Amino acid sequence: MIESLFKEQKAYFKTDQTKPYAFRLEMLKKLKTMIESNSEAIEGALKIDLGKSPFEAYTTEVGFTLHSVNMAIRNLKGWMRKKRVRTPIYQLFTRSYVMPEPKGTVLIIGPYNYPFQLIIEPLIGAMAAGNTAILKPSEFPKATEALVERLINETFDPAYIKVITGDHTVTSKLLDHPYDHIFFTGSTRVGQIVYEKAAKHLTPVTLELGGKSPTIIDETAPLKVAARRIVFGKFINAGQTCIAPDYIYVQETVKDAFIKVLKETINQFYPDDHTFGSIINERHFDRLTSMIDPSKVAYGGQSDRKTLHIPPMVMDHVTRADDVMKEEIFGPILPVMTYQSIDDVISDLKAHEKPLALYLFTKDKAVEKKVFGSLSFGGGAVNDTLMHVSNPYLPFGGVGASGIGTYHGKYSFTTFSHMKGYVKKRLFADPPIAYPPYTKAKEALVRRVMR
Ligand code: NAD
Repeated sequence: MIESLFKEQKAYFKTDQTKPYAFRLEMLKKLKTMIESNSEAIEGALKIDLGKSPFEAYTTEVGFTLHSVNMAIRNLKGWMRKKRVRTPIYQLFTRSYVMPEPKGTVLIIGPYNYPFQLIIEPLIGAMAAGNTAILKPSEFPKATEALVERLINETFDPAYIKVITGDHTVTSKLLDHPYDHIFFTGSTRVGQIVYEKAAKHLTPVTLELGGKSPTIIDETAPLKVAARRIVFGKFINAGQTCIAPDYIYVQETVKDAFIKVLKETINQFYPDDHTFGSIINERHFDRLTSMIDPSKVAYGGQSDRKTLHIPPMVMDHVTRADDVMKEEIFGPILPVMTYQSIDDVISDLKAHEKPLALYLFTKDKAVEKKVFGSLSFGGGAVNDTLMHVSNPYLPFGGVGASGIGTYHGKYSFTTFSHMKGYVKKRLFADPPIAYPPYTKAKEALVRRVMR
């Protein structure tokens, strides 16, 4: 079935029907209507799978993708336009162009944590760029997986866009085919498998992976504001956010004061737990609870395996030797480490993999310059968390172990396009300078002009 679908999509792409502006626009509008008219069902599925409140489900999934599809609709013509670029003087009577063209048939694989957004957002880029697409949502958020499958497969011709569901064995079979691009969002471990499989066919990839994203707080930071923005970024979706602050690095002089406001903020934000999300499944619940050292819990500490709930938890006196610092947490546990000098933080972070995000809370411009100038990370914020992801004018993606490539807004369009560069030469003149025989005079002229 996968084999025939792949062939069908390749054949459809070759008809060139996905390329015209009118087609792309019509399809993006169809997608928009699909999202708008099913927003309640999507939010309902996200509630079942991850306990998402309607506010979180709308802002991070439904509203997020609606904003993106509207942006694509508004900008499509400009993005698609062939652009004239400059031509060096030695190429006489020539004009040069960059013409975006769709890559072809692409595969989009999604993770479980934002199961709607992280399939639809790359799809918007793939459609705007004029590709056909096979989508493989995560198999764990069952209600969302089934809904995305039904909605997409009812809305689009399978030769153009089709959802395939199943576990990792299905993903593995999907990866056997020579796509024109693979867009993967998920763990670094599976990202490596995808990259290896793609290499067989020289398929270009975008890998949106994870990692441990640090949050640094220095002694000049306004602690109350920092606590609010960190609690928001860490505990949204019960900590299952790729760019969530994984752990805190706070300057020793303000550590106790920070932990105090952190606890007050959590109490204030989550007076009861009806808006707090749940962990996706028992495997992740057990993984999370096994990394907690009860002697270091400074806030929270309860958990309920039956309902898959772990309320916000803070761990104090944490060091790199603790289990919680060994892998990406991806849950509502916030470890706090301390430092004396920002140089120590920088050298510690340089000794670890490049993270997907980094957040810095400071009023000190010199610290800001030092941290952002010397550390490499996918993206981030000064005095905030998460918000870079929701600005579509910024490229979003990782670096090193946290990923390859970027998307969002126009970056999504370019990710799914091949930028075809070409020259067009006038026919009326054909100076013989470039042609043999290469005389001394021609060579002297070339050496003068081409430098
Ligand atoms: P995952 O890597 O376990 O799964 C992602 C997808 O890969 C799923 O669709 C799954 O079916 C498939 N898969 C799993 N095992 C496979 C295998 N052996 N072969 C082929 N395919 C396989 O990730 P997850 O647990 O769903 O998501 C959590 C991870 O994703 C975290 O590391 C998180 O940081 C990362 N993430 C990154 C971003 C980003 O934008 N960079 C966004 C969300 C999540």
